[in-house]
Amino acid sequence: FDALAAFDPEISGVLLSELDRLRSGLQLIASENMSSPAVLTALGSTLSNKYAEGYPGRRYYGGCSEVDKAENLAIERCKSLFDAEHANVQAHSGASANQAVYGAFLKPGETILGMSLPMGGHLTHGTKVSFSGKWFNSVGYGVEKESENIDYAEVEALAKEHRPKVILAGGSAIPRLIDFEFFRNLADEIGAIFWVDAAHFIGLVAGKAIPSPVPYADVVTFTTHKVLRGPRSGALVCKAEHAAKLDKAVFPMMQGGPQMHTIAAKAVNFKECATPEYAAYARQVIENAQQLATSLGEKEIRPTTGGTDTHLSLHDLQGVQVTGAQAEERADAAGIVLNKNAIPFDPQKPNVASGIRVGSPSVTTQGMGTPEMVQIADLIHRAITQTDGDPDHPVAKDVRAEVTDLVGRFPAYPRPA
Ligand code: PLP
Repeated sequence: FDALAAFDPEISGVLLSELDRLRSGLQLIASENMSSPAVLTALGSTLSNKYAEGYPGRRYYGGCSEVDKAENLAIERCKSLFDAEHANVQAHSGASANQAVYGAFLKPGETILGMSLPMGGHLTHGTKVSFSGKWFNSVGYGVEKESENIDYAEVEALAKEHRPKVILAGGSAIPRLIDFEFFRNLADEIGAIFWVDAAHFIGLVAGKAIPSPVPYADVVTFTTHKVLRGPRSGALVCKAEHAAKLDKAVFPMMQGGPQMHTIAAKAVNFKECATPEYAAYARQVIENAQQLATSLGEKEIRPTTGGTDTHLSLHDLQGVQVTGAQAEERADAAGIVLNKNAIPFDPQKPNVASGIRVGSPSVTTQGMGTPEMVQIADLIHRAITQTDGDPDHPVAKDVRAEVTDLVGRFPAYPRPA
């Protein structure tokens, strides 16, 4: 770091002020976490220099002996963690892992059935602005009005009507467990591939805190930086019968040289996830998310679906007459980082939204437990109902002071004693 600071004070200043930002606020973005120093060390290593197109033992470049070891470790650890027949750890991100599934199983114009974005899906699941919606025929399912849970009857009806080649489960704002067996049976009935995008919840699967989609799905894609707590990247696991097809789709169809430093960091992360400490973390993430959802609900900030089984909850702000955009801005001004989010059947435009999404991965990494979630719910409530987005508002100042005290007791990246 000293060399960087001497050469480039502007960028080293950004690194320091970002660390400061992480340490001084409450990080409640459900898709974020705080990777360990071990993961960050692998990320910042000389493995970043190496070109290694191909796969271990079958590269298009010389000098790959050491990076081959790293990738083989990542593959073996990933397979063992998820009890999977095959793993590909080269995807640069969740979106690139998803591209590989399209590349492996669909030709342009063919049909995929996935959850629509406003109902909780992801951009890469067929949204018109993404390659997935531009190049493929995407059909979207939603949630039931009453339960706000996946509308399985609609999924079945759409599958039988459109006969998609691929059926997709998973998304970015689904607080509840998914019935993988239902999707598997339906896919078998119509002869479709069953794909799970587990980006959000794979960390809970790794920690054995929720059921795994791996025994059911043909392929499971995921990001490695959410609950899982690894580097910013992606990966996939699949049945052995699809291994060659998916490997070819990742490279050379969709990507060039793999990022070997990130692959090494994924190997470190998979090792971390196999420990009892990580399993305890995953269980605590869920307990914390449930407490946060309940405590916000008690303050008229209603959790959709009535709560959560996972690391995130989605809240309807119409009861407190605040929009998602206002809530995000007001919370931010009070030192609380969360995001606005559309709720099912949202009357507002997506950039305004009627809801917020909150997640417990980061604060749980910091060591907080359920008593702190009760306090955080109170801080969120005060910030979004009693302030106006001005950091100098007296209530914003009070909330910020309490946030400072709380994060001071559970520091992010604690300084060595
Ligand atoms: N899939 C899901 C369900 C996601 O939530 C996300 C990101 O939030 C992605 C894919 C894309 O991941 P990335 O941002 O790494 O491309």
